[in-house]
Amino acid sequence: MSLDAATLRKDFPILDQVVNDEALVYLDNAATTQKPTAVMDEMVNGYYYKNNANVHRGVHTLAERATVQFEAAREKVRRFIGAKETAEVLFTRGTTTSLNWIARSYGELAIQEGDEIVISYMEHHSNIIPWQQLAKSKKAVLKYIGLTADGQLDLADAEKQITAKTKIVSIAHVSNVLGVINPIEKIRDLAHAQGAVIVVDGAQSVPHMPVDVVALDVDFYCFSGHKMLGPTGIGVLYGKRAHLEQMEPVEFGGEMIDFVNLQDSTWKELPWKFEAGTPNIAGAIGLGAAVDYLEKLGMDQVEAHEQELVAYVLPKLLAIEGLTVYGPQDPSLHTGVITFNLDGLHPHDVATALDMEGVAVRAGHHCAQPLMKYLDVSATARASFYLYNTKEDADRLVEAILATKEFFG
Ligand code: PLP
Repeated sequence: MSLDAATLRKDFPILDQVVNDEALVYLDNAATTQKPTAVMDEMVNGYYYKNNANVHRGVHTLAERATVQFEAAREKVRRFIGAKETAEVLFTRGTTTSLNWIARSYGELAIQEGDEIVISYMEHHSNIIPWQQLAKSKKAVLKYIGLTADGQLDLADAEKQITAKTKIVSIAHVSNVLGVINPIEKIRDLAHAQGAVIVVDGAQSVPHMPVDVVALDVDFYCFSGHKMLGPTGIGVLYGKRAHLEQMEPVEFGGEMIDFVNLQDSTWKELPWKFEAGTPNIAGAIGLGAAVDYLEKLGMDQVEAHEQELVAYVLPKLLAIEGLTVYGPQDPSLHTGVITFNLDGLHPHDVATALDMEGVAVRAGHHCAQPLMKYLDVSATARASFYLYNTKEDADRLVEAILATKEFFG
């Protein structure tokens, strides 16, 4: 394997435990990933025990140190995604907040009555509802790009849906249900050719593959810390400076102001004009440590490791009679997210049975109800692999599915 996952696991003590009398196999990484000791250590020992203070305001030594640590984390994130400057890297609570900010702030500027916003059938609710709300408030039209039979974006349909009226196209880089990697460059070209911006939901891509926002030439890119070894409650909104400069902040209060007068106020420069209130300082520092960890491994290695796992496990799953895998069956089109159903069994029962075997997977609609409807299912089970998973984990999944099939007969 490209990574030595067995050794890496020592950095994740939570994985070394017994669940329902079986060694834990954690395959719910698309929901959230486990955190290495280095991340928790940096947050607790590096920040809370040594440097805890508010940022940007104090002149005392702890405040200085906390500010330096917080802004160093922003620089790490900038480098990690290849952004030109830290002014373009805003800290948010996560992908959901990032997408909401874009819809509310950029949407307010860009969308007029009759304009079109284009998303796809495979989007997470976070990349649907902010646009629905915007479309309703502006009397704009929300359109959906269809999928091919094997669950890829239908590029012919994308060409039809993206028109001269389109102002915003917002697409997941990787689907949290199908695991499919979308051709962002092609969608970007279609959007830019019509003068529209492209927003990318990177919640399931940044943790799993090298991402360079300048090479991708996208207008906005959003992701969450907790899906890439970092803590919950911290995420990123990358935006091109030219857009962020014109946009109004979504939240107002302390930290983001320059001057406050009785009737009006002025904002700080980027990125702080968007970051009202005391930020998630420990969260940002933890995210910075997660970036350090991932960079040390190399994102191309992380990607190769997952591809190897998928290439190993997918044929085994496809060989199970009565098991349907949704999404492309070519491992090279996939990250480590595999969604499936077993004939005649509700996915919640499947997930419960797998849990009895120590295998943690997710079941439900995965915050993608329009996709469930499109696939004509009410729910699915989803196994999602990450850098610390091994081929033994993949074998345990297959064995547990076979045992479940036998149990329910
Ligand atoms: N977009 C995708 C593709 C996701 O998988 C998720 C989380 O599952 C989100 C958005 C929302 O992320 P968060 O809950 O961290 O804001």
